[in-house]
Amino acid sequence: MIDHPFFRQALPVIARLEEAGFEAFFVGGAVRDLFLGRPVHDVDIATSAVPAEVKAVFRNTVDVGIDHGTILVLHDGIGFEVTTFRTESEYTDFRRPDEVRFVRSLYEDLKRRDFTMNAMAMNKNGEWIDPFGGKEDIQTRKIRTVGRAGERFSEDALRMMRAARFVSQLSFRLDDDTKEAMTEHAPLLGHIAVERKLNEMDKLFSGYDKRQAVAVLIETGLYQFLPGLDGQKPALTRLAGLPIEGLTADQVWTAAAYLCAEEDPVPFLTQWRLPQKRIKSISRSVRTLIQFLAKGVTDWQLFQGGLQSSVDAAAAGYALTGGKELDAGSAASRFESLPIKSRHDLAITGNDLIQWASKSRGPWIKEVLERTERAVIARDVPNERTEIERWLHACNLL
Ligand code: ATP
Ligand code: MG
Repeated sequence: MIDHPFFRQALPVIARLEEAGFEAFFVGGAVRDLFLGRPVHDVDIATSAVPAEVKAVFRNTVDVGIDHGTILVLHDGIGFEVTTFRTESEYTDFRRPDEVRFVRSLYEDLKRRDFTMNAMAMNKNGEWIDPFGGKEDIQTRKIRTVGRAGERFSEDALRMMRAARFVSQLSFRLDDDTKEAMTEHAPLLGHIAVERKLNEMDKLFSGYDKRQAVAVLIETGLYQFLPGLDGQKPALTRLAGLPIEGLTADQVWTAAAYLCAEEDPVPFLTQWRLPQKRIKSISRSVRTLIQFLAKGVTDWQLFQGGLQSSVDAAAAGYALTGGKELDAGSAASRFESLPIKSRHDLAITGNDLIQWASKSRGPWIKEVLERTERAVIARDVPNERTEIERWLHACNLL
């Protein structure tokens, strides 16, 4: 019996496929996480039915990845990914194959999966199919490839990054043969698209055991084939030595960019093909971090950084300095009690200054506005129009 709600919700989907004469099983990460007692997010179903047959069985389906055999089946308003058993025998360029071959055998499907812990299946009665010793490896917390590690990494080099990110997410260790093959085949990672590496790196940075995982990148030499990290062994070694377990992915990116490219993090982050929005916010956090480290966490620096970057910079800085100079916890609450939180909150504008001073536009406006912001942040003057006007006169700024 399966007493997990996500799995139970999917039982009718499996039952319908079986009634139609096909095999269907739970597979992949959800089965692993169920056995591990970790939270399960979405369950994947594998079936002997080819996509056209899946679509004939269910009324509501969406073709989400039909070329790879994946159909989204909608049942009771919930979507379940149903994927045809397949092999991926044709590999070129050490990348995921462009073509998949549908097969009728569950065993063949499990055999093409990356690690033993990810190559288990469970039927609708909660019985396990575990041809490669996944359960035992989970019990001993080991990441081991299905089949010979060197071959599996030559087929798809991204699997080496997946191994490293599972170290972070699951706090597992690499099996010796798997680790040795990673060290030997690390250069194949050069063939993999940056977007796929980024996806794994984000997951690595989001897991708990980031330090151990970064150490794996160093020990296996994988880092040399990651964007902007070749030649960065000292920086990465430093990162692996920091208490970064509780940091968010973007906070780790902030620390990493600071350690690898302090002068200008933008090219580093661009190499990783991060979305522009994240490049902007992470590089702002790095700038804020540099200010925090140089001048401490002052109200002015918090104002300049903005909430998100201040929090991320404080968290990264806390890890970098061992908490000696920075207090990450209070960055957010201190930011919240600032009299103004952004330029737009200031009670006056450049036009007010032009009017009050009867002067024409010019660089003086920016200067006076910044003096005003500083004074408001320092609580020298309340953020109120008439008070500010009086203060400006008193300081001879008008
Ligand atoms: P997560 O919890 O992060 O989703 P996951 O194990 O479910 O982890 P997915 O990327 O969702 O990872 O992949 C689902 C399953 O597909 C894996 O458990 C594994 O069986 C298989 N798989 C994914 N990527 C590969 C790959 N590159 N090579 C072989 N099998 C893979
Ligand atoms: Mg998954």
